[in-house]
Amino acid sequence: MRPFKTTIPIEEARGLLRAGVEPIARTETVPLAAAAGRVAARDVAATIFVPPFSRSAMDGYAVVAADTRGATRDTPVRLRIGERVFTGSTPTRAIGPGTCAEIATGAPLPDGADAVVMVEESSRADDEHVLIGAEAKPMQNIGRKGADISPGDLVLRTGDLLNPSRLGAVAAVGHSDVEVFAKPRVAILSTGNEVVEPGAPLAAGQIYDVNRFTLAAVVDAHGGIPVLHAPARDTLESLNTALDACDDADVIIFSGGSSVGDRDLLIDLVAQRGEVVFHGIAVRPGKPTMFARIGGRPFFGMPGNPTSCLSNAYILLVPFLRATARLPLYAPRTIAASLGRTIVSPANRHQFYTVRLEGTVALPAFKGSGDITSLSKADGYIEIPSDQHTVEEGTTVVVTLF
Ligand code: AMP
Ligand code: MG
Repeated sequence: MRPFKTTIPIEEARGLLRAGVEPIARTETVPLAAAAGRVAARDVAATIFVPPFSRSAMDGYAVVAADTRGATRDTPVRLRIGERVFTGSTPTRAIGPGTCAEIATGAPLPDGADAVVMVEESSRADDEHVLIGAEAKPMQNIGRKGADISPGDLVLRTGDLLNPSRLGAVAAVGHSDVEVFAKPRVAILSTGNEVVEPGAPLAAGQIYDVNRFTLAAVVDAHGGIPVLHAPARDTLESLNTALDACDDADVIIFSGGSSVGDRDLLIDLVAQRGEVVFHGIAVRPGKPTMFARIGGRPFFGMPGNPTSCLSNAYILLVPFLRATARLPLYAPRTIAASLGRTIVSPANRHQFYTVRLEGTVALPAFKGSGDITSLSKADGYIEIPSDQHTVEEGTTVVVTLF
């Protein structure tokens, strides 16, 4: 055994990770329909007007506003209907004094018209005439050409997240695809002689690989492409071969073997192939966590214990990966609750303690770092700083929801 000589506080680990982020530089062009949630890699400027023509914002009558002066419900103005203009068609003649056009919402405004009277303010005199029952103000109910977007306007800036409304703006100016930053490729690999893939029979002493799937789900949810590798054995040879297979990854995550036992070889692997940034964090769960650079690439050595591994994936990997992918910070939802049972926390370690919510009461859900149900049966966690040892039943706690 080679015990941890020092551990660093969680805030220091977070700072080192922030400093270690290299935002992805590769870009790719994707169809608009596949671009939701991606990050724009270049500014997009409009080359057209939106709307491309002045149009009616109401179903009603396109009129010359001056013709309606003095009109009221009791003293309406009578206008002749020149034509009917539907969406997708174009008017064939201009509106002159005493005339109007029946017009649909979204249809092009005929020349000469400078207002639209909505149908509710009119009544039909006969097939060819309408009675306008209210004065129209110039430009009322008209969507002016270019009122929304003009040529040269930026509808998207580099770094913008493509949320639904920004996708809409890009579509409005007629682009069918968009250049975005590539998603970081994240190699995920479990280590351990005992670890086998779900679906295979379980021999004596073996367990199923949990971390590969929890890590892949987190990576997928936060802007990365998980690239799954088969488990490696606890030999330097096997780990080296596994590492070679991660050559095209932007981020590498190994789990297991990150602690200080004789069979915990990640530290030896990193000593051979790269540099350690930190090893050992004063947190529970998740103390045996390593961050390193191997061949210039960020390398996470996550604890083998499934809850430790996933907890640090949420707390450390998510911010790192999102920054690498150029995604905005992720702020999980929090709620206040009353602690249902007193918790004792270890000295000198910042604890992420999982809880289950029953109404507004937070009940302890943490079993052990090795138990995936510490997380899978929890709704969120509370944080207990390293200088606090007990949290009494009935205390109001802030629960960060998963
Ligand atoms: P290690 O970090 O390699 O010392 O492993 C700590 C504990 O986590 C051991 O009980 C391992 O069997 C278990 N473990 C390691 N890797 C995994 C994995 N991928 N899935 C589930 N359990 C694991
Ligand atoms: Mg192991």
